[in-house]
Amino acid sequence: KEFRNNVKPNWCPGCGDFSVQAAIQRAAANVGLEPEGLAVVSGIGCSGRISGYIKSYGFHGIHGRSLPIAQGVKMANRELTVIASGGDGDGFAIGMGHTIHAIRRNIDITYIVMDNQIYGLTKGQTSPRSAAGFKTKSTPDGSIEQAISPMELALSAGATFVAQSFSTDLKDLTAIIEAGIQHKGFSFINVFSPCVTYNKINTYDWFKENLTKLATIEGYDSTNREMAMQTVMEHDGLVTGIIYQNKDRQSYQELIPGYAEESLTKAELQLSQESFDKLASEFM
Ligand code: SF4
Repeated sequence: KEFRNNVKPNWCPGCGDFSVQAAIQRAAANVGLEPEGLAVVSGIGCSGRISGYIKSYGFHGIHGRSLPIAQGVKMANRELTVIASGGDGDGFAIGMGHTIHAIRRNIDITYIVMDNQIYGLTKGQTSPRSAAGFKTKSTPDGSIEQAISPMELALSAGATFVAQSFSTDLKDLTAIIEAGIQHKGFSFINVFSPCVTYNKINTYDWFKENLTKLATIEGYDSTNREMAMQTVMEHDGLVTGIIYQNKDRQSYQELIPGYAEESLTKAELQLSQESFDKLASEFM
């Protein structure tokens, strides 16, 4: 409850993003955070509005750039829990370069993608997650491109935490976000979050029929990267749960000598008046 603010979300009734918002709020409360200990950074798109709907520090950034901003926030103030968020167009089209490098860099933040397989804010064009053959206003004869597989991509880029969920599975989604926040390194969570207005194919019913929970696969081991990749490929990416977690690899911050000593936001500015004046004059 403490992560609710007074802003009424401007999403269509039934949009999957409502559940993602609720799950972030619940997960933050469950891990014992206070609003002043959380920063939510978002990109552009319907999902990008989420940073304004959670009582925390928030930054509604620019298209595809939630990750560089979120990483900068974390590096400057390690005491904050940082969540970056955005849609599949934001993260896998214009922001794809940032996504891959954030994954391999392993800074201790959580990235939540609200994957609705379409561009909703601009009224329904194909996204990098739209399946081949998908018909929209921009592809009236069906898309001739293949969709990106976010889980395969993350696993091959060296991710230390890869998970996927479905926005109606609020309990599972909340638990996954909690695990992502607690993971020491970059946690990547892709959430199937249906766009009820423009995507009439990948609906709630479609996901219910096609998703497999990893918890129902006997012997599944989320510490086994090879098994994770094989399972994702066998199910065409339509699995939910924690797909892979490596708790042994150190985060980016842990590898920086002296990083843990003092947060940049609290450090004394070691600058003489003369140096400060010189610096200031360069910006005048
Ligand atoms: Fe959600 Fe789609 Fe409406 Fe955007 S257009 S708010 S993604 S349902």
